[in-house]
Amino acid sequence: MSVLNIVVIGGGAAGFWGAIACAEAYPQTHIMILESSGQLLSKVRISGGGRCNVTHACFDPIQLIGNYPRGAKALRGAFSRFQPQDTVRWFQTHGVPLKTEADGRMFPKTNDSETIIACLQRTANQLGIQVRTGMSVTRIKHEDQFTVRCKSRERLNCDRVLLATGSHPLGYRLAQQLGHTLVPPVPSLFTFKIKDPRLQGLAGIAVDPVHLQLSIDNHKFDQSGPLLVTHWGLSGPAVLKLSAWGARAFHQSRYQGELTVNWVPALSHEQLRQKLREAKTSVAKRAIANHCPVELPQRLWQKLIAAAGIPPQQRWADLSKQQLRSLLQELIQGKFQVLEKGVFKDEFVTCGGVDLKQINFKTMESRCCPGLYFAGEVIDIDGITGGFNFQNAWTTAWLAAQAMGQPD
Ligand SMILES: Cc1cc2nc3c(=O)[nH]c(=O)nc-3n(C[C@H](O)[C@H](O)[C@H](O)COP(=O)(O)OP(=O)(O)OC[C@H]3O[C@@H](n4cnc5c(N)ncnc54)[C@H](O)[C@@H]3O)c2cc1C
Repeated sequence: MSVLNIVVIGGGAAGFWGAIACAEAYPQTHIMILESSGQLLSKVRISGGGRCNVTHACFDPIQLIGNYPRGAKALRGAFSRFQPQDTVRWFQTHGVPLKTEADGRMFPKTNDSETIIACLQRTANQLGIQVRTGMSVTRIKHEDQFTVRCKSRERLNCDRVLLATGSHPLGYRLAQQLGHTLVPPVPSLFTFKIKDPRLQGLAGIAVDPVHLQLSIDNHKFDQSGPLLVTHWGLSGPAVLKLSAWGARAFHQSRYQGELTVNWVPALSHEQLRQKLREAKTSVAKRAIANHCPVELPQRLWQKLIAAAGIPPQQRWADLSKQQLRSLLQELIQGKFQVLEKGVFKDEFVTCGGVDLKQINFKTMESRCCPGLYFAGEVIDIDGITGGFNFQNAWTTAWLAAQAMGQPD
């Protein structure tokens, strides 16, 4: 029987994982990774602030899919076959123990993404996977076999192809050339640009948790979690999650919307009113600016009382009913106008990609082009921040690997 030749297009997380899993399951196959740039696994290197948030300690597939604004349904079956527990085990058996942080994010114990890169490259090398950089694939022809043409005009023939090109426009074009529909790619996981006197001078202040509601035209999106004030507006997990769930609506509105912030979501409206009323008697003589009866950074508190129209030196005893109402409003329903997407990237991922309907999620094989497989971000799947995007890459690549190495 002749040796099966597989070309993996893209030397990122999904490409490496697919190639490795295939070589481990089918040692007789010949696998080659083609990477357009000079650098392999470049997003792994910069991921998680250089620490690489490999996956998330969420081991129940039903719970896990709740972290994917796009692709949750398709991933349900996929996660029952390969999920974060399998990722953890794989890295452990390949010499990279992972650790879990308090919020569930998992990183290599070394806290260094280079550990992940070294592990993937070493394993690929040990398995005899050929890796070629500077090989930008510009065309794929499918007849009896596949012919993969590179920018350098080099042509390679193979039996199967794994398209793992991430969010690169060239990868999307290759998928379209082979008959696939693209769900238009738009950004996800971004920060908000907001110009507002309440945030001025507060860069670096974090509040955890807050509750956020984003209104875009007729759509409303809610998220809770830590919030970070930045030089240009707002960031932090709550904002990034909100940007992911609202990615498409946000794009349509040109990144403008109204954000409502509840700075003290742990308290009900009534509990908060009670606390403010109590302060009127318990600390009657103190300046409102100097005594914050709820858990908030002092400088933020001072901005909020100013926004409520309360002079900084006014004493608690003199707080009027109208001022109390305004203060309550600022604390639980502060309105901020989002002007555009933040300019600095925290964790950037693409919403959109190859239409899920055209992929068989048992095998990751294209329904339009037999022998072509997909994995990673090129597909219309994306997760919120926290290791979910890499888990999508590991899972879809693993599924593709099990199928594409099977002899006819
Ligand atoms: C700053 C940043 C931080 C992130 N941090 C995290 C994190 O901590 N945790 C997490 O889960 N996710 C994180 N992500 C998201 C995560 O990196 C991606 O979801 C993941 O890398 C997708 O893997 P992929 O292999 O599908 O695509 P990619 O990693 O983008 O790899 C695709 C590869 O294909 C190559 N390629 C494209 N077109 C061609 C072509 N025509 N021919 C040959 N090669 C081609 C590209 O050069 C690239 O190397 C982060 C993203 C960014 C930008």
